[in-house]
Amino acid sequence: MIRIEFRDPEVREIVTRALGRSFTRSQLALNHEPASVLVSDRPLPGFKKQVVLGSKPGFGTDGTLTPIGTITDGCIRFSGHPLTRNLHLKERHFERYDFEKEWNNLGYGKIDPVPGTPFSLAEPASSDYCLLHESNEASLLWFNRPVGPVDGFDWRIVEDYVSDHGAGSRPTLPVLSEIPAGYRGAVTFRIDCDEAIASGRPLFELYRKHEFPFTLAIKTEQEFGTESLALIHDVLQNGGSILIHSHTHAPEWGEPSTRLGPKSRGDAHFEAETSLTVLKEKIPGRTNSYAVSPFHQNPRAALPKLKKAGIDGFIGGIICNDPEYLMARGGAVPFVEGMVSHSEQCMFHGDCIHPLGNSLTVYFEALDNAIKTGTFFGYLDHPFSNYHYGWQSEEARLRVHGEFLERLDSIPGLLKASSKDTLDFMFDRDQARIESDGGKLKLAFPGPRRSPLGMKIRWNGAETEFPGTEL
Ligand SMILES: [Zn+2]
Repeated sequence: MIRIEFRDPEVREIVTRALGRSFTRSQLALNHEPASVLVSDRPLPGFKKQVVLGSKPGFGTDGTLTPIGTITDGCIRFSGHPLTRNLHLKERHFERYDFEKEWNNLGYGKIDPVPGTPFSLAEPASSDYCLLHESNEASLLWFNRPVGPVDGFDWRIVEDYVSDHGAGSRPTLPVLSEIPAGYRGAVTFRIDCDEAIASGRPLFELYRKHEFPFTLAIKTEQEFGTESLALIHDVLQNGGSILIHSHTHAPEWGEPSTRLGPKSRGDAHFEAETSLTVLKEKIPGRTNSYAVSPFHQNPRAALPKLKKAGIDGFIGGIICNDPEYLMARGGAVPFVEGMVSHSEQCMFHGDCIHPLGNSLTVYFEALDNAIKTGTFFGYLDHPFSNYHYGWQSEEARLRVHGEFLERLDSIPGLLKASSKDTLDFMFDRDQARIESDGGKLKLAFPGPRRSPLGMKIRWNGAETEFPGTEL
């Protein structure tokens, strides 16, 4: 079990959700059950394995201190220590954008060098970001940030540290992989139809050729002409999914905001409920309870309202707002009960690709990093309308997407999933409970499952697979 001790309730909530996404709720000692691993804002006696987040603890004079991540020029560089063996990227920028102040295609959050938020550096004067202290009594992994790496690929360091570091002499706990059983990696793609749904047809046909289930996230206050309805129908017939993308695409889900953009005629509840109602009329029996957040914005006040309107899962995550909803793993959402989310911040746009001479290097790096860290990789584009998202032409766009799809096809054991299939799997991961029966691992599900996909657990360097289920 993992004991979680934080004085700041906000930090505690964010870190608890992040740990639950990796180790399942069943291994979190939330009611003071006996625990072997500590995750805390300070070291505490009695734990042979500790993760300390925030201010640098006094390490004492005995033992060894090993740098895992070091800060230089607004960038963390990871050492070659075995705890970083599952990171493909060996550096993490504090803040990095591929296009304006929006998209960070390499998939990590924003670290503020000025202290004051859970996502800032805790010790700005220190050049240490992550240190490992080993003594006779305990292993201690420290991160120079109140929430640690919850929003970055370096979260894998925490998973590996807890699940296999020092096996034999230190406690280890199993971790629930974000990649389904039987697969080496997982990828999901969607287009957000803010307008002109039917113009997504050429991209859909390309993805269909590559047997990649397609997803349309639809802003519902728009014309649904015959061609749009035909595309929606074909997407569903080919194993794809349709999600709501709000009704008016107002910023902050229609909650009070000074941001520029269309005005909602209501609030987040109005946006979600109206959007769902429209889709239920257009595709009776084929809707689901998932959303893609407009602009990837998720103010905390919106979430209970979305839930009340029937939404229990959303895709969001972006580095310029709502940092608590950008998380390394998919799963339960902080500050609301009964919702899951998946962060998909890789924007596949001409804006990001043509200026680099049509180079896909950043995307290949992001994909390789996701596969190595065991991350379910999500990326997105938009259909053409008056705005072309930086694409020179439809032909140019199809060529570039085709090149990326060929790379995906060349990787054995890669799952291609629709947005619905992805969130169904995240929902099941959130329900899953890791249990040990006389040393034998078990995976239990207290409620009905939504996804037929199996799961796998990593523990002490080995993987155990649990088959999926017929639905
Ligand atoms: Zn949108």
